[in-house]
Amino acid sequence: MSPRILVIEDSETQLKFLKDKLESKGLEVVTAVDGIEGYQKVYEAHPDLIIADVVMPNINGYQLCRMLKNTDDTKKIPIILLTILDKKIDKFWGKKSGAQLFLSKSIDFEELYGHVMSVIKRYPVDQEYKENLQHQIITRDSAQTHLNNVLNDLLLKTIFSNEFRNLSDFLNYEKVMVEKIFSLLSSFMEYNVAGIFFPSPDSLGENILYLDTLGRNVSKRVLSDIHYDFFKKLSEYKEIKSPKFEIVRVLFGKEVEYEYSDFASKIVIPLIYDKKLIGGICFYTKEDINYSSFKFFDIMITELLTIFKMKYQYSEKELMSVLDGLTGLYNRRQFELNLEQEFNRTKRHPSNFSLAILDIDFFKKVNDTYGHQYGDYVLKAVADILKNSFRKTDLLYRYGGEELVIIMPETYIDNALIPIQRLRQAIEDYEFDYNGIKTHQTVSIGLSMNYPEFETHTAILKSADEALYKAKESGRNRVIVYEQ
Ligand code: GH3
Ligand code: MG
Ligand code: MG
Repeated sequence: MSPRILVIEDSETQLKFLKDKLESKGLEVVTAVDGIEGYQKVYEAHPDLIIADVVMPNINGYQLCRMLKNTDDTKKIPIILLTILDKKIDKFWGKKSGAQLFLSKSIDFEELYGHVMSVIKRYPVDQEYKENLQHQIITRDSAQTHLNNVLNDLLLKTIFSNEFRNLSDFLNYEKVMVEKIFSLLSSFMEYNVAGIFFPSPDSLGENILYLDTLGRNVSKRVLSDIHYDFFKKLSEYKEIKSPKFEIVRVLFGKEVEYEYSDFASKIVIPLIYDKKLIGGICFYTKEDINYSSFKFFDIMITELLTIFKMKYQYSEKELMSVLDGLTGLYNRRQFELNLEQEFNRTKRHPSNFSLAILDIDFFKKVNDTYGHQYGDYVLKAVADILKNSFRKTDLLYRYGGEELVIIMPETYIDNALIPIQRLRQAIEDYEFDYNGIKTHQTVSIGLSMNYPEFETHTAILKSADEALYKAKESGRNRVIVYEQ
């Protein structure tokens, strides 16, 4: 059976010319004089290829093309657009409309024929597909309605995508961004509780699931259940340390009375990029809603993924500038910044914070004996012991070479001494093991706090340093508390 070509062209002479020529090559030709008729003929005649003019009254070739390519019934049929337009922007639209080829009307017929045959060969339309088309009856009116729907959808999608893209203005204001996302999501999605989560890019940051209850005061128990459910699902992708939840947007009214078991629809969606978990969203609804059948669901996920990706890259970059590469602790610049902030804060709102400096004993010898790489390993391992020994609110820094600093906010020196002693002991007990070389190491620690007589933040640092010096002098592997 010879391939069937549908030619859609409003100029009668052109149409006749193409029909005659194509038929003389042994092809079967069906014709239509405008886009709407063309659309009807696609269903009636189920062609193997469509050749359409771009400039036509009623609906133009781009629109017809978009309409066919956006419909499952017809999207597989290859299309060649013919045009007298030759500006770059015309070519751009030609491509964007989804046509397989975009050719100039001034093309020589033999050349056009060559293209026709190669497109038919490259994009074969199977029988089942054709049969499916035949069973549908398309009237002029329904074709017009269909076109309007497709164009409306496209417009909506564009508006919708734009709404999401605008969110990227708030990348460095996490809370504001979360609020904007919720306000957008709640404008077109049905839910009782929704959640958004960005994992902290390092072990030092916080992991918060932001929840939106549409302003209603939902019981703590229901929210804890959602929190549990959400992180349980996400733990398949990444271990998330001490996750918390937080409600955004103002709450009003008394507690809303429903149970977790009242949710008929629950959906938790991990967002993955580059094989890494970069976020998650969830929706909990009392009504039974099939979210994935929702028209804009896929676009929403795609757009959110873009935003989350940007956020992830942004926070990684931001993090690089405050973290030390080897140990993953905050760097010295960050230490100086935070110490000053903490000092000023406690001047305004009196409270105590402690500061400890730790220095590895005879570290030079470790390098000299086992090599610099082994030294690096020890440093990193000590930093890891620190990370596991302190509360989330305590701040850990690499101050210099093998000197690490701990700031313990809201901690009086007597209370700081306990975990610091424990840390010293933990390092003494630890067996360092790298490339088969096992060693034991010790550290000396100087401890001080923001005594009222210190007038600058540097005075606190100096006092802790003095204590460290004493610890070294008096035999190492010990903690010395600064004495006024
Ligand atoms: P002590 O503190 O007990 O008085 O003796 P020490 O041998 O540790 O003395 P010191 O603090 O003077 O030496 C620190 C050494 O740490 C010098 C330097 O080679 C080494 N060091 C500093 N930064 C690094 C690093 O990033 N990696 C490695 N492997 N070594 C480092
Ligand atoms: Mg040392
Ligand atoms: Mg040192």
